[in-house]
Amino acid sequence: MTENVTGNPSERGRDLAAALAADGVAGLTIAWADNNGIPRSRTVPVSALPQVATSGVGVTHLFAVFDTNDAIAFGSPGMQNASGDVRLVPQLDRVTRLAGQPAFAWAPGKQVAADGGPWAFDQRSVLERVVDRLAAEDYTALVGYEMEFGVYEPETDPEDSELLPAHHGPAYSPHALLPIDGFVASVMRDAEANGLRLGQIHAEYGPAQVELSLAATDPLTAADQQLLARQTILAAAEAHGLRVSFAPLPTLNGAGNGWHVHTSLWRHGDNLLAGGPEGPRGTAGAGYVAGLLRDLPALAAVTAPSQGSLARLRPGFFAGAFSGFWGVENREAPLRYVPGSALLGEDHANVELKTSDASANPFLALAAILTSGVAGIEENLVPPAPTAEDPGTWKKKQRAAAGIEKLPATQAEQEEALRGNPRVAGVLGEELLEAFLAVRRADATWAAQKDTEEVLAAWRWKY
Ligand code: GLU
Ligand code: MG
Repeated sequence: MTENVTGNPSERGRDLAAALAADGVAGLTIAWADNNGIPRSRTVPVSALPQVATSGVGVTHLFAVFDTNDAIAFGSPGMQNASGDVRLVPQLDRVTRLAGQPAFAWAPGKQVAADGGPWAFDQRSVLERVVDRLAAEDYTALVGYEMEFGVYEPETDPEDSELLPAHHGPAYSPHALLPIDGFVASVMRDAEANGLRLGQIHAEYGPAQVELSLAATDPLTAADQQLLARQTILAAAEAHGLRVSFAPLPTLNGAGNGWHVHTSLWRHGDNLLAGGPEGPRGTAGAGYVAGLLRDLPALAAVTAPSQGSLARLRPGFFAGAFSGFWGVENREAPLRYVPGSALLGEDHANVELKTSDASANPFLALAAILTSGVAGIEENLVPPAPTAEDPGTWKKKQRAAAGIEKLPATQAEQEEALRGNPRVAGVLGEELLEAFLAVRRADATWAAQKDTEEVLAAWRWKY
């Protein structure tokens, strides 16, 4: 989108409004992700952009404590009652006309306090702060997402919650994609037109499952694009009469949808993760991996925080169910180191966190991941030797001897891990941490009355 990037927000809003209106765009959807990883939004007429660009649009402060069922978890600090308002401000440099919804443009929003000052519960600001802190120490990061999702036929009987896969495999086969050929083509075209750089798209392991990867970019762009990719995919599905589930586990017996996060950390043009089959070569890269490893149980409480996440984290499913180990290209490891090579170059090296899914707020998740990794560098942490095996196949005793244990498997265990970790809890800040945990507890209380399949079915289309 061409725009005036030098003027004040109001002037830029006026230029954008004129350009969008000339393009036939009716509304700008301003989106953010809440503490459940659920995108929320407000749509304004493009004519309102000059004003909205400066003062935003009003939304309730209570979005900080909306749970996955849209119930409000009152009670945490600042969230006692329904009185309050914050302003949702579109990020003008990210305004994108939606190829799949030509009457709409889209922009990520930032929540600010009613007086325009910082709002402690705004997740995008949390990541901005971490990126700024990294920049002050000459670090930059690259982040790439793999997004797995299920594609289904529309339900024939609303009473029947059985899912009808829109493809039936075989896994990774071009034939699997034939029945959804038009949808895949729309996703590819629209993603490109929306400014998303795709790595690849393929039929994944399970029936109905597809994976799309986004090329690595800076952390804020990666989080924004992860949200925009959801909108793009859902619009394409709608146009082709299909339904898409981004849920961590759409159904108990099906494949889980991991949203694996690949990160690399750079300084003065060098990829600190660079290395080969032994792992990162330098002490900084090793420290980064060790930092992630140290904080994994608390990180998972942010990167895979929902009841669906906990159901997904099963050993043997490439989802990263254990803490305490990492591996080089080990797909069962929660942290999979991806080395550089003669063919791919040193710059290719990165580390993938598998314990991550769509129910994570991407801004909070990336803020926490980068903070933990950088702390590992600053404290000169040294990781243990990488593991090539799947410890899920080992005896419990053998795992215990190697310091490998199940990641927190309940909300209470996740809360304990998060509260007990000053780095990860500190990234969120006290107020946001309490709101985040209040939402988790509300979800867990609701889910406790249900069996897992019911919970998964209720949240299948939320993300
Ligand atoms: N579907 C797996 C998950 O839940 C990941 C499979 C893969 O490694 O691509 O994360
Ligand atoms: Mg995959």
